[in-house]
Amino acid sequence: MERFKLYIDGQFDDGAGAFESLDPATGAPWALMAEAREAEVDRAVLAADRAFRAPAWAGLTASARGKLLMRLADLVQAAAPLLAALETRDTGKIIRETSAQIAYVAEYYRYYAGMADKIEGAHLPIDKPDMEVWLRREPVGVVAAIVPWNSQLFLSAVKLGPALAAGCTIVLKASEDGPAPLLEFARVVHEAGFPPGVVNIITGFGPTCGAVLAAHPKVSHIAFTGGPETARHIVRASAENLSRTSLELGGKSPFIVFDDADLDSATNAQVSGIFAATGQSCVAGSRLLVQRGVKDEMLARLKAKAEAVRIAAPDLMTTEVGPLCTARQRDRIAGIIAASVAAGARLVTGGQLPAGPGFFFPPTILDCSDAPDAPCVRQELFGPVLSVLPFDTEDDALRLANDTAYGLASGVFTRSLTRAHRMIRGIRAGIVWVNTYRAVSPIAPFGGHGLSGHGREGGLAAALDYTTVKAVWLRTSDDPIPDPFVMR
Ligand code: NAD
Repeated sequence: MERFKLYIDGQFDDGAGAFESLDPATGAPWALMAEAREAEVDRAVLAADRAFRAPAWAGLTASARGKLLMRLADLVQAAAPLLAALETRDTGKIIRETSAQIAYVAEYYRYYAGMADKIEGAHLPIDKPDMEVWLRREPVGVVAAIVPWNSQLFLSAVKLGPALAAGCTIVLKASEDGPAPLLEFARVVHEAGFPPGVVNIITGFGPTCGAVLAAHPKVSHIAFTGGPETARHIVRASAENLSRTSLELGGKSPFIVFDDADLDSATNAQVSGIFAATGQSCVAGSRLLVQRGVKDEMLARLKAKAEAVRIAAPDLMTTEVGPLCTARQRDRIAGIIAASVAAGARLVTGGQLPAGPGFFFPPTILDCSDAPDAPCVRQELFGPVLSVLPFDTEDDALRLANDTAYGLASGVFTRSLTRAHRMIRGIRAGIVWVNTYRAVSPIAPFGGHGLSGHGREGGLAAALDYTTVKAVWLRTSDDPIPDPFVMR
């Protein structure tokens, strides 16, 4: 079996032991991952803390940090085929998506490389004639970046890029499910030439690794992507040290189709929104809200597409839907579908566990017209399962769209410009895609409201999130300080 190590303080590390990683396409173990427990977490955080203050990193100019990030971007691009193959092997995500996504991850590092020396302070027109006051933007400190299994290189880049541009140091925790691509990424970081301790990459289990990292007193900011329940643990852990948090959580995103929409486009976008990445996408458009006049037509088109999808081994370029990452995830999805059918949802297609090895699950559509509160409408499934609800008016569409505790993404399909604008205003979500879906860029902020979390990744604001403002007061007068008992 292949073996992967931790990366702590510039060294590859065997950890406290090793755990098996399963190939989701076969269900069989294929690699051993070094495991971080309390001692390794502590070593990694202390290394990051030392590196934060050491001249080798703290003394670099912002431009020099940018150059290191640019080198990392080039190396990620060169290593993209290997990293993609490992992500596909260890998480089951299809090679068609991992190879395109990881090549694009390099663009995130380039974007933040360019930003490193554009994180500017400010000079203030202060209301005291004998004072100069300016603001310095300084890195916040050690960042704990904790990611889930899906899109680990991408979800790491949106944390590492801005945090390193700002001058922070990092302990990145890969998910215990499918950590291979991030542990291999450590070799790329090493080759890029960051000083030891600036980037540390570990993996381990939630309670024995993630929780210890989140609670570590030397961590200043926890950048977390994952589920809302884990996010609550993170926030509780952050309370002790009053560390900052940014939380990118799940969603139950509405995909709204009006009867004037281009149905070819809407159908393809909906397929991309829910069946791509086998539905394991935080922005999955998992609730199709469709105007009653085109409901039957949309359902017929989607059923035909869902049944024609090529389900096969994830490492084939022709595969469209691969396995889910874990058996636990597959069984959970099957359970929610059964409960939804019992609550009155009608199975249009899919829903049955296929025979054979691996954690496969077929594209599934549930017509929830008679069960608008079925579990599949309310809960995030994180799988290829679409719940469909009809609506009559724009107001109905908005009411249904916003009838969720989440607020990450949304899609609107209409040819009416004025209606599109009304929907954009009315939808409560961090992203609105109009006549498109599942598009991302380093230039555009990404994040949500409510149970979808807070904070934004991507864009300029993300880098500012990893800084703290220092206000500097400098007196320009040589006269003695006046009355010391009066505040100036
Ligand atoms: P999860 O919350 O179970 O795990 C995420 C990470 O947190 C893992 O590395 C895990 O080991 C760690 N963890 C677990 N318990 C912890 C604890 N007590 N303290 C600290 N860390 C702990 O998430 P998951 O099930 O692996 O991933 C799926 C979830 O991620 C879904 O809800 C999905 O929507 C969400 N997600 C969100 C985005 C986004 O950008 N908004 C992107 C991808 C995935």
